[in-house]
Amino acid sequence: MTLLELVDVTASYGSVQVLEGVSLSVPDGGAVGILGANGAGKTTTLRAITGVVRTGGSIRFDGREISGMRPDQVAALGIAHVPEGRGTLGQLSVRDNLRVGSYLRKDRKAIAEDIDYCLDLFPQLKDRIGSHAAALSGGEQQMLAVGRAFMARPRLLLLDEASLGLAPSTARNVYDAIGRLRRESGIAMLVVEQNANLAFSLVESATVLETGRNVLTGTSAELKGMDEIRRAYLGG
Ligand code: ATP
Repeated sequence: MTLLELVDVTASYGSVQVLEGVSLSVPDGGAVGILGANGAGKTTTLRAITGVVRTGGSIRFDGREISGMRPDQVAALGIAHVPEGRGTLGQLSVRDNLRVGSYLRKDRKAIAEDIDYCLDLFPQLKDRIGSHAAALSGGEQQMLAVGRAFMARPRLLLLDEASLGLAPSTARNVYDAIGRLRRESGIAMLVVEQNANLAFSLVESATVLETGRNVLTGTSAELKGMDEIRRAYLGG
């Protein structure tokens, strides 16, 4: 079953149109990547889904048209966003950031279990549970941002450049944990990533954007086999 489907989505900031017609679909429980150079429109595609930019075209989630909805309405349907730059609340503790992620839920026992699950997924956060998020390293903040999004128990996670600014081994750790989260939770994922090696370790298929349009879409295996993808994104 298709969980998310974008058909010919356009988006603009003021009078400047940056998405010229983006189409993609994410199966329920599946993971799909969005690749592309700086400025191609990857982040804007995620913002179009979450309702923070004005869009045209169609965005359907779980069979329902969601374009034109407010960000809080989109979140309430089960779409969580881990934005570029992480967006953790610096003056709140790690524990409170995780609790904030669960603010729409009422199942207190399950919330406590899910906090424990986040700490198992990201053991580095265990020692920092009472620390302000602002005091964490970049890698720990990224882990917290993913954990906070999971705490909403979404059906779809939108991940924006989770590796940005991290040392390669830290980025690998973060992606390994996201992969485990995916296997264990079945949450579908739409993943924006400059580091195509990391993206391909997580997603089954991907689409490549150029100046606000899809130029290539395929399975990870197909894309990895293409010379232009190898040259542009895989360093060879
Ligand atoms: P990056 O990897 O650099 O984040 P991206 O593919 O995610 O690239 P977007 O951030 O979606 O690209 O940006 C697409 C285009 O929209 C760029 O030309 C950018 O300058 C422009 N843009 C992004 N945000 C805004 C904004 N708030 N106001 C005006 N233009 C914007």
